[in-house]
Formats: sequence, C-alpha cells, structure tokens
Amino acid sequence: MDTDVRRAVVIGAGVAGLAAARVLADSFEAVTVIERDTLPSAFAPRAGAPQGHHVHGLLALGAEVFEGYFPGLRAELEQAGAPVWDWGERLCAVLPKGTPPPTPMGMPIQTFSRPLLEHVLRQRVTALEPVTLRDGLTVTGLRTAAPGKVTGVRVKDGDAEDEIAADLVVDASGRSSHLTQWLAALGLPSPRTTTVDAQIGYASRTYTYPEGAAQPSWMGVLQPLRAPDFRKGCYAIQIENNALHVTLHGAGGTQLPHTDDDFLAYATTLRSPVADTIASLTPTSAVRRYARTVNRKIAYHRLSRWPDGLIALGDAVCTFNPAYGQGMTVAALEVRLLEQMLGNRRGRTPLDGRVFQKRLARVTASSWLMATTPDRAWGKSGSAWPVQAGNWFMNRLIDTVPHDPQLYTAFSSVFHMIAGPQALAAPRLLSRVLIGPRPGASRSAIMS
Ligand SMILES: Cc1cc2nc3c(=O)[nH]c(=O)nc-3n(C[C@H](O)[C@H](O)[C@H](O)COP(=O)(O)OP(=O)(O)OC[C@H]3O[C@@H](n4cnc5c(N)ncnc54)[C@H](O)[C@@H]3O)c2cc1C
Repeated sequence: MDTDVRRAVVIGAGVAGLAAARVLADSFEAVTVIERDTLPSAFAPRAGAPQGHHVHGLLALGAEVFEGYFPGLRAELEQAGAPVWDWGERLCAVLPKGTPPPTPMGMPIQTFSRPLLEHVLRQRVTALEPVTLRDGLTVTGLRTAAPGKVTGVRVKDGDAEDEIAADLVVDASGRSSHLTQWLAALGLPSPRTTTVDAQIGYASRTYTYPEGAAQPSWMGVLQPLRAPDFRKGCYAIQIENNALHVTLHGAGGTQLPHTDDDFLAYATTLRSPVADTIASLTPTSAVRRYARTVNRKIAYHRLSRWPDGLIALGDAVCTFNPAYGQGMTVAALEVRLLEQMLGNRRGRTPLDGRVFQKRLARVTASSWLMATTPDRAWGKSGSAWPVQAGNWFMNRLIDTVPHDPQLYTAFSSVFHMIAGPQALAAPRLLSRVLIGPRPGASRSAIMS
C-alpha cells in the first residue's frame, strides 16, 4: 500500500454506506465501497436491500440533510418523477380517533421508491473522484496488523479470497452485519444487544394509474398501528412512474396477505381509502412480505475496548421498527456526526472510533425511544410505568391531533424530526393534549 494515500473502506452500499462514502470522500484520498450484491444498472429492488419492495418514506429532516450532501438531489428525484407535496395538505392520516382535515403546513415532502433513491445516490457517490464501488464482493472479516488495530477487510469474490487495506473501515452493512462476530474473533467482549419486537409484518405491492385516470386528492395515506386494539394499518404513497406504492401492515403476529386477492381483502378491512383506490388499478408487482422489523441496538459504545481504524453506523448498530420511518434520517444524522468528527481532527490524526460510537449512541437515543415506547405496549407482560405514561401521553396527543390544526402541525414537525419533542411542550398545546378530544368528538372525514 502507498502509505501516503489515506484509504477508507465502507462495507455496504445501502443508504448509510453511500452517505458515509460521500463524507469520507472529503477527507480520504481513496474510498472503496464494498457491496455483496451485484448492483443493478437501472433502479430495481435487490436481495441485499429487501426493504426496497416496501414503502420507504424519507422524513423532512433526512431530506434536508441529504440535500446538503447531494445538492440538487430533490430536483433530480423530481425529474425522475418523484412528486413533492405538502404533508399537511395532501396526507390522509387515518388516526384512531379521526382524520385531520387538510392543513397547509409548508412542509414539502418528496415520495419515491427506495430503489430510485439508492440509484441516484449511487450515481452521485460513484461520480466522486476518490470513490470506487466494488459490487459482487462480500466482506468476510476484519484485517488486523497489531492487536487493537484494524487495517482493512477480508473479502470473498466467489471462491477467491483477498484483503483490502484501509486506514479506516466503516461497517454500514445493515441489519445483517457480522461485526459482533468479527470483533469476537479479535478477542473483544460481546456488546450488549437490546431488542424490542412488536412482531410487525409488512406486505407490499405497487400499482400504476392507467393513462388519464383520475387520481385521489391525497398523495399519501397513513393508518398507524396502536396497541392493543389497532392491529392493522397501512402506508400508501404516490411515487415515480405514476405509481402508487402500498404497504399493509399488522402487529402482534397479525396474519399478512400472501396473494392478490388476500391483499385487496386485507385493505378492505382498513378504515383508509386505499382499498377503494387499488380496486381499480393494475398491480405492477407481486405481493412481497417482510417481517424482520424488530428494534435492535448493539451497545458498541459501552465496550471497554474498541479497535483503532474502525467505526460502525446505520442499521449495523441501531435499527428501528420501520413503521416509524426513521432509519434513513437517523443514518443521515450519524453521517453528519462522522463529517463533524472528521472535520474537527487536526491534520491527519486518525478518527477516534470509540468516541464516535459513544456520540452515535446519543444521536440514536431519542429515535430509539420514539420507536420502542409504543412497541413495548404490544408485549404480553405489560410495560414499566414510564413506558405506560409515555404511551398514555402519545395516544392522547394522537387522538387530539384531528381536532387541532396547530397541534397537528407541531406533531408533524416532531414526527419529521425538524423540531424536537419540546415543540409539543408549549403551554397551549400541552393543555390541549391533557384536555384531549371533546367527548363524542370524532372527525372522520376521509379524503377521497
Ligand atoms: C421493510 C422496511 C421498511 C423501511 N422503511 C423505511 C422508511 O419508510 N423510512 C426510512 O427512513 N427507513 C426505512 N427503513 C429503514 C432503512 O431502510 C434503513 O434504516 C436505512 O436504509 C439505513 O440502512 P443501512 O444503509 O444501514 O443498511 P441497508 O440499507 O440494509 O444496507 C446494507 C448494505 O450492506 C450490504 N452488505 C451486508 N453485508 C455485507 C457484507 N458482508 N459485505 C458487503 N456488503 C454487505 C447489503 O447488501 C446492503 O446493500 C425500512 C426498513 C425496512 C426493513
């Protein structure tokens, strides 16, 4: 290896890996992204990112951060057909106690398929001078020179094995990361892994509107789940290619549809307008199911020893029940942390991986709480009182949202992470939530 050239290796060309490569390209002379899938030249779902078959919403904060890293991204996605719309005006939110009326919020949202986003990010990242993307190559372990120092990765291409040297290795290999085993092979202790599983399943497919067909006034539908009674829900978004992407979901082990007929029958059991819409559309994909929705965090930040030359981010460290749509946005925030830490170094001082993992744990903390608090309510054994109190407040808030546009707007800003939870603590909003919806009040006007 040319010792003057500083090299980084990123494991995984998912959203976190691509965003990390973008930031690393500012600080390293060579950045190699290694992806085990053979990547499609056009945009299409792929085996290593099965979530590509399912509705993938990017929160407003995530869109803002990605736009900062990839200026013009929104326009490029729009050119590829991804619509931009106002969340408050064009979302049909079918909440347990009613649907808020259209409420202009000045919160533009863009909707697209995950494969399209990944495709555009991939093109942007591979156009960067220092970046090389090597697909069809699987990382099988870490390369070390001295104890406590990672110096690259071991890779496998079919039967052929090789090593790639690096000054920094970034594990962005997602939910299927093998980092705990790789660290164990280096003699490091096992980090604690925490899981919270609401046993939520997804079933999804896409549809297209026939040429000239009338489209609904909504651009998205959201019918969330809520323990213990609201076990079925859905997401639907208008995406590129004049298509509608629909994900039906169910919690607590609810049986999800397998076949075309089951899919429509399940949609018919919902209060949302999705069934009426898809009944007259042509499906353009088979029904795809997914059930690995467990929240999982691995406490790498608590390990007493951490090797130099290594960091981990994205789903490889902390994954959320995707029903809350946080994964890509949190990955973007983790990459922002990486950028800050790389920028704060003096000259060529190596990044302190241990400090990175500690700070990353703070970045994920509030999203973890947002996802796991309601998910714990699906557990059979009951939850601790702080969780019960959190869920009481959240349920009351969601029940009041259809009746108060200001509360709906504040809640949406928190949901999209452009405001912190303190935005809901304004005295008027807080007292509105505590009073709750008026008895008997129910807003059920659903956008058609
Ligand atoms: C069903 C579902 C729906 C979701 N919906 C949303 C949503 O609406 N909004 C949202 O923000 N997030 C959503 N997410 C989460 C989101 O997809 C992830 O949080 C986000 O993409 C960041 O993931 P990642 O890049 O860390 O991992 P991934 O996207 O999983 O990428 C990891 C990559 O690493 C590759 N890889 C794995 N092992 C190796 C190896 N050994 N060698 C080389 N390459 C390897 C994989 O092939 C893959 O390409 C959803 C997730 C799921 C499962």
